[in-house]
Amino acid sequence: MEAKKAVKGMNQSITFTIKTKLMRIVDFRSDTVTLPTPAMLQSIVQAPLGDDVFQEDPTVNLLESTVAKQFGKEAALFCASGTQTNQIAIMVHTTPGGEVICHEESHIYKYEGGGIARNSQCSMKLIQGNRGRIAPSLLGPCLNNPKDLHLPLTQLVSVEDTANRGGGSVYTLEDLYAIHSFCQKNHLPLHLDGARIFNALVVNGMQPHVYGELFDSISICLSKGLGAPVGSVLLGTREFINKARRIRKVLGGGMRQAGILAAAGLYALENHVERIPLDHLRANQLANLLEKLPWVREVLPVETNIVVVVLQDASQRDAIQNELLKHGIACIAFGPGMLRFVTHLNIDDSGLEQAISVLKNVTF
Ligand SMILES: *Cc1c(COP(=O)(O)O)cnc(C)c1O
Repeated sequence: MEAKKAVKGMNQSITFTIKTKLMRIVDFRSDTVTLPTPAMLQSIVQAPLGDDVFQEDPTVNLLESTVAKQFGKEAALFCASGTQTNQIAIMVHTTPGGEVICHEESHIYKYEGGGIARNSQCSMKLIQGNRGRIAPSLLGPCLNNPKDLHLPLTQLVSVEDTANRGGGSVYTLEDLYAIHSFCQKNHLPLHLDGARIFNALVVNGMQPHVYGELFDSISICLSKGLGAPVGSVLLGTREFINKARRIRKVLGGGMRQAGILAAAGLYALENHVERIPLDHLRANQLANLLEKLPWVREVLPVETNIVVVVLQDASQRDAIQNELLKHGIACIAFGPGMLRFVTHLNIDDSGLEQAISVLKNVTF
């Protein structure tokens, strides 16, 4: 009896081990989960290094000058994260007691730990607009009259493109020009949270310098769709970047042989931009299937690499997420009754096929 049990137990544990080894998780939670490719690791190993606080790391310097040139900006600063580049930019553009205009669902407001209040001591004027994008016509009423002593001085407008909460939505160039000219007219700096700017550029078929002309500062994530392990780049005028560099140091973001990280970013810029349309294609293929499933009420329009699913039964969100994970599909809760699936560098056609065949058969 005992022996039988033990054997049975052993068998079970063997099966389980084999199963977990065989089961590959297709991880749609975020495009931040990508691991560096062997070629990227090779570029890291070969990178020439120096002390970047002395501005002597050749790889960091090359990354900064490459991205600045690409976007037609004077200078760039390599930072630890997109939160850091956004927060530094906002600190440079504003003074305590000022006000920042941004979309009510923007990352700088929702997902940076209250950083604007904490780091810049500014208030925010939250603006609405379709799928995470500021409606240019709503900007006017958000601008405070600088002569009215009651009101905080409006000091910055910030735009997010692609807009994460909008399900990876992309601004039209027309809207960006409208926002740009509003800012010009009112002497307001304009910041772009371009965590996924390359996804937007692909959709609009635009060269980066077009966006460089529209924005005073741009934050770009290397660790999202580009697939680098760490890092973001902040772009602006030389004067702006000099100020940003001081603030980065104060925040503890002055890194030494940071070329180890910058090398991965350079590699990503050279090798992973051209493949971004594949992510968009796969996101569309996934969405086409998802919208046919009985437990899905609606799939939000897919413009880039993000698929947001509205569930038939909102109360089932966590149960569905857990069940999918048991079947090898990881996704992330995205507000009440919604799940988000993001395609990226580490999801190839076979990963997508695996996910699609599971999704076709799984029932709740
Ligand atoms: C990811 C992201 C950021 C930066 O996030 P970090 O994790 O700090 O690099 C900023 N804005 C948007 C829209 C993002 O999706």
